[in-house]
Amino acid sequence: MTSAMTAPSTPVRTRFAPSPTGFLHLGGARTALFAWAYARHFGGTFILRIEDTDLERSTPEAVQAILDGMQWLGLTPDEGPFYQMQHMDRYREVIASMLAAGTAYHCYSSTEEVDAMRELARAKGEKPRYDGTWRPEPGKTLPALPAGRLPVVRFKSPQGGATAWVDLVKGPISFDNSELDDLVIARPDGTPTYNFCVVVDDWDMRITHVLRGDDHVNNTPRQITILRALGAPVPEYGHVPMILGPDGEKLSKRHGAVSVMEYDRDGYLPEAMINYLARLGWSHGDDELFSREQLVSWFDPQHLSKSAAQWDPKKLNWVSAHYIKHSDDAHLVKAITARIEARGGDTQRADMIQVVKLLKDRSETLEQLADGAMMFCGDFTQPSQELINQHLTETARNALRDFAVHAAQTPWTREAISALIKTILANHTLKMPQLAIPLRVAVAGTTQTPAIDAVLEILGQKTVLARLADI
Ligand code: GLU
Repeated sequence: MTSAMTAPSTPVRTRFAPSPTGFLHLGGARTALFAWAYARHFGGTFILRIEDTDLERSTPEAVQAILDGMQWLGLTPDEGPFYQMQHMDRYREVIASMLAAGTAYHCYSSTEEVDAMRELARAKGEKPRYDGTWRPEPGKTLPALPAGRLPVVRFKSPQGGATAWVDLVKGPISFDNSELDDLVIARPDGTPTYNFCVVVDDWDMRITHVLRGDDHVNNTPRQITILRALGAPVPEYGHVPMILGPDGEKLSKRHGAVSVMEYDRDGYLPEAMINYLARLGWSHGDDELFSREQLVSWFDPQHLSKSAAQWDPKKLNWVSAHYIKHSDDAHLVKAITARIEARGGDTQRADMIQVVKLLKDRSETLEQLADGAMMFCGDFTQPSQELINQHLTETARNALRDFAVHAAQTPWTREAISALIKTILANHTLKMPQLAIPLRVAVAGTTQTPAIDAVLEILGQKTVLARLADI
């Protein structure tokens, strides 16, 4: 498939602008991924901006969680992290310049007065809004300054007409300017408000494309009008629909892990997460599995879906299994070592490359791989009496003893072990499961293992003979 998109004329600059108020959640990670992939696709710049001006809700732990999540996913910013709290002087400077230019004004209405204006509008069946009492107009006399009251600064929003843009995801969107009242851009103590900080930073950072969640659609006309008042270029905007849970409700903790780092803990590879997250709301034909490089070369916002994506844990596990199966063995060994140690296992007990080779086809996550590896790295769990009674019958024990005698003389390779198993089956006129299951119970304490010859080879001759001697 070829992209119909032509390269933008100016160098692409995108940003991810999370508010550090929790962990990096799946929706945020996906937004970051799209902004990153878009910048990479055009050889542009991806910027990380931490929107930490909400002092009550922002925490250093949440900042760290964002940085950790992005690093784990390999979404490395080219610029930043920048912190909005470090741009306060700049915001104040722009507010002062807008006051001087008359694109913003001081408003002395009290909170109670503004609430009353809103109430009145509502009563008239109109949208609740500030009524423009302090908005300067030619020939208008403003009220007398109330003594001792600090003003807010309001943006002098355009009246009449509409503010429109062609959304990269949703297509043409238009808001009547009559719907936008004069937004407060600075509080009485002079601190700038949310939409204003976004505007100044997008301008200063020369952002060309804003990709973000569609919960921000209503902010966009406000941001565009302020940018225009500043004489700043208006970026292109693309608003990505949210992610729904498998039940069609907005994805939340009820649906399981929503923090990206929980997926790290649960044993998903970052490559699998990137692949799965990319497909959640973006497509390239019917391709389900693709590398990071393919994603970058294919990525275009035209194939971002207009409708909400649905989280599908089964599909994530399918993608994850694919990445485990195709991962480099040494890489997987490294990735599961700490998980095995956390289970009390010891990776020195077996050739871990062989262990991984044997188990990678049957593991959906690193956690499952580590669970499986405990057969070789953990202490031997004696089979239960029930398993012994059921599977270590006299016939089975005879065959196992015979197997053990020959095994002591057999070169310890999978082929030789397999040949020996066939010989014992023939000598005792048994079928494969009649020997393989008792062998599993005797050497692994369970009836279910991968191919028994491979399991025996990895366990090693000494261990196998010792366990068989104990039956
Ligand atoms: N800080 C906002 C958020 O976390 C995003 C702002 C933006 O992308 O413009 O929802």
